[in-house]
Amino acid sequence: MLHLLHSLRLKARPSFPSSLSPSVIFTRSMASIDLRNALSDNQSALESQANAVRQLKSSAAAKSEIDAAVEALNALKLEKSTIERELHALINADGNGEGSGNKEAFRQAVVNTLERRLFYIPSFKIYRGVAGLYDYGPPGCSVKSNVLSFWRQHFVLEENMLEVDCPCVTPEVVLKASGHVDKFTDLMVKDDKTGTCYRADHLLKDFCNEKLQKDLTISSEKAAELKHLLATLDDLSAEELGAKIKEFGIVAPDTKNPLSDPYPFNLMFQTSIGPSGSSTGYMRPETAQGIFVNFRDLYYYNGSKLPFAAAQIGQAFRNEISPRQGLLRVREFTLAEIEHFVDPEDKSHPKYSEVADLEFFMFPRQEQVSGQSAKRIRLGEAVSKGIVNNETLGYFIGRVYLFLTHLGIDKERLRFRQHLANEMAHYAADCWDAEIESSYGWIECVGIADRSAYDLRAHSEKSGVQLVAQEKFSEPKEVEKLVIAPVKKVLGQAFKGSQKNVVEALEAMKEKEALDMKATLESKGEVEFEVCTLGKTVTITKNMVNIQKEKKKEHQRVFTPSVIEPSFGIGRIIYCLFEHSFYTRPSKAGDEQLNVFRFPPLVAPIKCTVFPLVQNQKFEEVAKLISKSLTAAGISHRIDITGTSIGKRYARTDELGVPFAITVDSTTSVTLRERDSKDQVRVDVEKAASVVREITEGQTTWAHVWSTFPHQSSTATDE
Ligand code: ATP
Repeated sequence: MLHLLHSLRLKARPSFPSSLSPSVIFTRSMASIDLRNALSDNQSALESQANAVRQLKSSAAAKSEIDAAVEALNALKLEKSTIERELHALINADGNGEGSGNKEAFRQAVVNTLERRLFYIPSFKIYRGVAGLYDYGPPGCSVKSNVLSFWRQHFVLEENMLEVDCPCVTPEVVLKASGHVDKFTDLMVKDDKTGTCYRADHLLKDFCNEKLQKDLTISSEKAAELKHLLATLDDLSAEELGAKIKEFGIVAPDTKNPLSDPYPFNLMFQTSIGPSGSSTGYMRPETAQGIFVNFRDLYYYNGSKLPFAAAQIGQAFRNEISPRQGLLRVREFTLAEIEHFVDPEDKSHPKYSEVADLEFFMFPRQEQVSGQSAKRIRLGEAVSKGIVNNETLGYFIGRVYLFLTHLGIDKERLRFRQHLANEMAHYAADCWDAEIESSYGWIECVGIADRSAYDLRAHSEKSGVQLVAQEKFSEPKEVEKLVIAPVKKVLGQAFKGSQKNVVEALEAMKEKEALDMKATLESKGEVEFEVCTLGKTVTITKNMVNIQKEKKKEHQRVFTPSVIEPSFGIGRIIYCLFEHSFYTRPSKAGDEQLNVFRFPPLVAPIKCTVFPLVQNQKFEEVAKLISKSLTAAGISHRIDITGTSIGKRYARTDELGVPFAITVDSTTSVTLRERDSKDQVRVDVEKAASVVREITEGQTTWAHVWSTFPHQSSTATDE
């Protein structure tokens, strides 16, 4: 009997844990295909069984026969609801695009805490705010400043980078040369009736996710197609996006009105420089251009030596079409960018071996297009197999991994995703994004790109200033050089006003083309030659150009350096850090959930709070004394002398992610409490500040302090 076979197949399916580890996503997607197949088989079985029941009833079959058929039908219905439940569970556990309901609740709890404790505030709130603009409040400012100072230590100091600070207002010529004026666009669609704008790729992405999440009737082939579309969304042209929007019948989300065709919208904020309004400027969309235009001076400052890196931290501005996802997509944000200039013929890195043994989740191009998921790969293996283009790019991927995990980003929710071939700019040699998983899915937080020589060449051409490096030879080298010498007089007589175009086209020939021309001129005396700027072909004769190879002695090689660029969106990193650090625990009475941010001391906005246990002058004096020592040791802290219960005061600081609390309950010694374990040690008043300093600066650990001093575990305290 058909339905029994289906039941057996259902039982044979493995069950899957609800962990969010990326390593199980592939298994999950296979399981989701199995379940969808099972569901569609079950559907056909249900239909034929329902027909069978109808037939038996209409033919007035024996009651026992009808009962058996109805029972089989009910078993199939039960099976259907079991498959649907499992499919829902799987979809909700899948962090890679199929979405989850409880993630929303988690995000709401994090965001409420962040806004209530003023980590951040929607800007201009009393005027109802502006989408995509946020202020950092006091604890948010401290976290940001801690992240940036660690960034300076981990990158600028470690690599002796040259830090610069350039203006946000940028003249048009710079961004014209870089390509931003013409190409820094996203594809936009408009609501045909209201004119409301949407980002076209986001609408398609939402459609695919929703379909995968909510529509259990779609076939496994359709589900695979939607997943493939999600993975390759960045590859779609305006026409392809428009065609998909039409094919799926996607309409404006707010009004259900039809949408326009997608068209490019430039994301830069335009302004004018000076009172006349005649000089166009833009708010910079990235900080990198300020470094490129300074290359010549920085190279000289570095003793005319390569490789070297320059760095910049500063505001960037992008007029995002429809900012959403809170701090993740905003219209003004802090970027921290590194431009590492290197000889294109030698992209090795002297410190590469220090990171080669790191192993973490990588998501190479090949795995993405074949529908697999990120895998743990040893960085050294990825570089040696050519998955990562070169050592310097690999070195920075490794350093970015160390930076993020040191800040407190969860290793299991961090992956390095390689750009697909079409997603990369045509000049780029290779690109990887550090993506962090949050309740919004996987988010690009750091882009690490080998941009080859594109930017320096573009600015050399536009400005006429050569942005190049030299390699001086220890001994002069004899080189053979191709010399193309157009005979201007003859060309002038032949082409009159078009002479300049022909000369330029001849001089711009590549070596192979020039040698082919030389051979043809020698054998046939003339050659047809296409001059693009004239839009036609002209006849070149032997007396119009001399082409030959000449031997020359060269003392140096002059070349345009390649640049490897790690670009950090500081706000995105901080938001992901908030989510990865957040948890709740029950209060002692168990009647409420207390919020905690488990920031490492490095990131915590305040390192320590000091409380007198009860309001009394002697304890307050001791607290002030300790506060003075903490200030002298450079440790940020707060004193809380309010009369509220100690439990409430701990809860208040836990919610700010303060890692340590000193409670003054005597004039000679105090307790020091660690936030996550809630364990306490007793230390002398004079030692309290230095113990906190040693742990927060990483000279010792809490475990060591716990074993050195008299202590008490949380189970024994009043929490
Ligand atoms: P996306 O595709 O998400 O728009 P992008 O590819 O345009 O990002 P890049 O141009 O590579 O981003 O910018 C470098 C970094 O700047 C990103 O890795 C991200 O962390 C950050 N970033 C870019 N746009 C925004 C934004 N609107 N809000 C906050 N951070 C951003």
